[in-house]
Amino acid sequence: MSKYLTQVINDEILEKFNLRNRYNFINNNVMSVLSSRDFNYLKSCQKFCIKLEKKHNMTHGPDEDVYNYVSEAGKQGIISRLYKYENLDLNYEPYGMIANFIRCLAGTPFDPQLALVIGGTELAINPLQLHHENLPIRLEALKELVTGKNHGCILITEPEGGSDAVHQTTLCDVQEDGSYILNGEKIYNTNAPRAKWAVIYATAEEKNANTMVQVLVDTSWNGWNCERVFIPWVPKVHIGRENLVNLRVPKEYILGEVGRGRDHLFEGLIEERIEIAYMSLCLCWGSLSHAFIYTNLRKQFDQEILKFQGVGFLLTDLWAKTMNLTLSIIKFCESYDEKVEKFNNQLPLNIRYAMVASASQLKYHCAKLSEEVCYESANLMGGAGLCDNTLTHDFLNSSRVQEIIGGSRQIQQYIMSMALRQLYKMM
Ligand SMILES: Cc1cc2nc3c(=O)[nH]c(=O)nc-3n(C[C@H](O)[C@H](O)[C@H](O)COP(=O)(O)OP(=O)(O)OC[C@H]3O[C@@H](n4cnc5c(N)ncnc54)[C@H](O)[C@@H]3O)c2cc1C
Repeated sequence: MSKYLTQVINDEILEKFNLRNRYNFINNNVMSVLSSRDFNYLKSCQKFCIKLEKKHNMTHGPDEDVYNYVSEAGKQGIISRLYKYENLDLNYEPYGMIANFIRCLAGTPFDPQLALVIGGTELAINPLQLHHENLPIRLEALKELVTGKNHGCILITEPEGGSDAVHQTTLCDVQEDGSYILNGEKIYNTNAPRAKWAVIYATAEEKNANTMVQVLVDTSWNGWNCERVFIPWVPKVHIGRENLVNLRVPKEYILGEVGRGRDHLFEGLIEERIEIAYMSLCLCWGSLSHAFIYTNLRKQFDQEILKFQGVGFLLTDLWAKTMNLTLSIIKFCESYDEKVEKFNNQLPLNIRYAMVASASQLKYHCAKLSEEVCYESANLMGGAGLCDNTLTHDFLNSSRVQEIIGGSRQIQQYIMSMALRQLYKMM
């Protein structure tokens, strides 16, 4: 299998795009701003990706099934690093938000669609980690997800309710034995057609946010019906539309009872939004590293194109913006980790509120920047940036998806404007 239909970039340049060189570019940028512990962790994640690519002769071509590599990523412990997972006897080191960002900084430039698949599973991991209550079945599901044995997905969005995530129509009928019966439709759920475990939100009363629930579902159960929705910008990511018909959820799988669902939905907002923010940022690094190599090698009018202001100055602009946002993300992640430690995992509400607004700002800004950087980097490479010989198209397409998932650009602005109102009221 070849990663391109026809080779159009010459051998010398194509060889220079190898993963090791692209990582070198990223490392030279971040080594002075990461602690030595975190920089070493970055290098160990990169080493894993380089080995994985070599071992499987990965081409990142259109026919590759990225889901096949998740289990190896899980064995390496790089599906989720937000927590130490002592409860699963994994005892990851390093762990926390900065470690999770670093994992992504190695994984996204390696393969953006594989990174998205892993991100989809992580969305199911976080609520389970917060609400396993030491029940064996929940811990077992959690371990399968964290170690990459199975995939996970999260079902919030409905056909008629996307941006407005709290007025749901998927109904939850409470049974006498404490189990729930779910009926309704969900849509655009990353990994759903391939997932074993789904975390689902529903409501006891239609469109009543105060009666929301959160449950864990094994997708082999009766009543789970899922078909694939094809999103051409991320063709290797399996996204689902689900029809839930009398899907019975036993009591021990209920993560949030009637009335607790909305709080559970919002409690992960900081972590989930920041994850999308740094995934967008890592797309920038992936595409910048290509443009950096290409513009230093490609000659026109007898000169490396980097030397023309139209190319070089635009690239420096993209580079500066990416580096500045990287500094912001690192600062945010480090303060989050510090506070989580200080408050023993229970962030006080006022700090959480402040961080939710910052997470929205970063999600908004990083997604917007990735769209610009990924497009302009490809553009700076001319035909070579548009063809299928490198991953540039993959970065560009993934950046467009990042503008929508986890709350669109406009919704982040809406949230930020409400935060401004709140700040005004506090004056
Ligand atoms: C690739 C992909 C993966 C996804 N993965 C998941 C997943 O794993 N789980 C999950 O539950 N969902 C997932 N989603 C769904 C995603 O979160 C929603 O698509 C998103 O929230 C937008 O909802 P919508 O598509 O219904 O658009 P709508 O809400 O209908 O929005 C349409 C447009 O209107 C704008 N808009 C809406 N309300 C306002 C407002 N108040 N002010 C200003 N503008 C507004 C939006 O910004 C958008 O531009 C995924 C989507 C995609 C494309």
